[in-house]
Amino acid sequence: MIGINFLSNNPIIAAVVAAGLYFITYLSFVWMLRFWRNWNPPTRSSILLNAALAFAMITYISISPQGLSLLALALATGFIMCLFGILAAPAIAFEPGAPRPVIEFFAKHAEYAGLWMIPPAILAGVMLPDAKLLGMLAAAITVELIWFLRSRGFGKKSYPLDALDLLVLQTQAKGNVEGFAKQHAIKELEISADGDVNWIGCNKNSLPCPLNHYIHRLGLNTPPCCREHIADLGRFVTGCLRDMGATHWIDGGTLLGAVRENGALLAWEDDIDISVLLDDATTWKILCATLSQRGLEEGYYVDIFEKSGFLTISYDRPQLWPFRWERNRMRGEIRLDLVPYRHATNAGKPVLERQLLKGAMPVMQSGWHGAPEEIVLPTSTINFLGSHVQSPNQPEAFLEILYGDFRTIELTYVDKDAAETRANIDQESIT
Ligand SMILES: [Zn+2]
Repeated sequence: MIGINFLSNNPIIAAVVAAGLYFITYLSFVWMLRFWRNWNPPTRSSILLNAALAFAMITYISISPQGLSLLALALATGFIMCLFGILAAPAIAFEPGAPRPVIEFFAKHAEYAGLWMIPPAILAGVMLPDAKLLGMLAAAITVELIWFLRSRGFGKKSYPLDALDLLVLQTQAKGNVEGFAKQHAIKELEISADGDVNWIGCNKNSLPCPLNHYIHRLGLNTPPCCREHIADLGRFVTGCLRDMGATHWIDGGTLLGAVRENGALLAWEDDIDISVLLDDATTWKILCATLSQRGLEEGYYVDIFEKSGFLTISYDRPQLWPFRWERNRMRGEIRLDLVPYRHATNAGKPVLERQLLKGAMPVMQSGWHGAPEEIVLPTSTINFLGSHVQSPNQPEAFLEILYGDFRTIELTYVDKDAAETRANIDQESIT
């Protein structure tokens, strides 16, 4: 009893406990953002866990030996709801679909939007200068300050925009690049007095450029920094697979770029697709363990999606547990999807099949998606970004299975209006 009274009555200890409860709740919330980021609704258990932690924290703040403080309850609940709403916006904005202005607005300012909660925090602290409430508010604002400082990055370099990038930008901006940059908070654009346009590039010390927003919503080309990092990421993963002796090939949009754009990335590419064939030597377990280890050693973040059976490898550095969950606050991601295939038989014919749907790949008897084995194996090589990489044996036949008439340009995932605005430029650039 004396111990409990001491915990409640000693203001410093009460503030530290409240700050600790905030930190646990915050980490659990940013962990949950991974679902939205990958276009899935959060699971019921993750919602319940978050609700229970938030409830415990708010209860601790609002209840004292004197009883329940309604003011503390209202201030703590209101503050957490606003702040966590701001934190969730970038992850929710990943989902394709009609633009949602409020979410887009907070996502657009995600690097510092948490700091907008400083005035409400001060106001709440003045209204109720209670140690527990102050402990929680101080913890929340400290986390937001650290996030802001970490997001800024250092050593950024400036990239000139090439003629095509510039043409697409000017077209989407309807000639007013400066106004467009301001309207959409494109802080990477640097416009000199004589009209030169440069791009201040992302790097491993900064957050990645928000590709989702710039490419899908605004219809811009992939920024030059991200193109460079995408190529680097591709080299890292193909190097790992080669060292493992794994059969692999470029897939999806990456293969489409190699075939249709003569070895280049699609101008609006937002990721890289590589597939790997699992067999006795390259099992799922060995693949996950090897990539995770190499990612840690060489500074790439590896995420394993056990249930859907694929991995993603991202350009950003892996952070220490549990801080790695904060990456779910990032507005952009430079990532590679590594999808395993397996040998199977379909209607008596050998096929290679994958669990995850890609393009229009047909459903096999097993319920997975597949292609005839002879279209893929033995793998061939194709020029991609200046080097020879593994490709399906018949790349054009493979692309037809995925996309039908793959020579016709389709800007999948790009918002309709933005896609229409740039359609002529894309058609001309490959003809
Ligand atoms: Zn970038």
